[in-house]
Amino acid sequence: MIKIVTLLLFLTTLVLTSCGIPLPLQKDLVVKDLNAVRQFATTDSTFASYVQEFELRGRIITNDGSFSVGDIPINFGDTENESFQGVCFEYPDGTKEVIVRRSWWNAVDEDYRESLLFHELGHCRLGRDHLDDVRSSSTETHKISMMNSIIIGPQKYKSYKEEYQRELYTFDTTELFQSLQIIVN
Ligand SMILES: [Zn+2]
Repeated sequence: MIKIVTLLLFLTTLVLTSCGIPLPLQKDLVVKDLNAVRQFATTDSTFASYVQEFELRGRIITNDGSFSVGDIPINFGDTENESFQGVCFEYPDGTKEVIVRRSWWNAVDEDYRESLLFHELGHCRLGRDHLDDVRSSSTETHKISMMNSIIIGPQKYKSYKEEYQRELYTFDTTELFQSLQIIVN
C-alpha cells in the first residue's frame, strides 16, 4: 500500500513538473479583481516571433487576412501560481495580458515555448476555455486540443503542430484525428 501511495505521489509530481499546467480546478485564465490594472503596455521582444507566427497561422487557418493578436502584451513575470508556467490575465477594464515564467522559458525548447504561448493566446485572444478530452489510438491516448489544462509536450506538438493548430483556431479535430489515427466510433 505504501508503495502505491509513493508511486502516485511520484507520478503527480512528474506531471506537474514536466507539464507545468496544473490540475483542472486551477485555471490559468484568471479574471482579476476590481482594482487590478494591467502590468505591461507592450510585448517583450523575446515573444515577437511567436506573436508573428500566431498571427500568420491565424490568417491562414481562419481565412481572415486581418487576423491579429491585438492589444495583448506578453511579458515575463509572476504567474501568481507556482504550477503555472504561463497565464492569461483578464482585467476589469477589459484589457488582457499574458505573463510567462522566465525560469521555465529558459529551460525548454522552441516547440514547448510555442505550445505554451499558443495555449495562453488561445485563452486571451481566441476566448477559448480548457478542453481536457482525450481520445485513443490503438497504441496510446492523446490530448485532442492545445487547450488541454496540461499543455501539449514538445515532441507531440512538433509532430502534429498543424493539426493541433487547426483545432485551436477552429475546433475542427478532423485532421488531428486522422493523423493520430484516433479510433472514431
Ligand atoms: Zn489554460
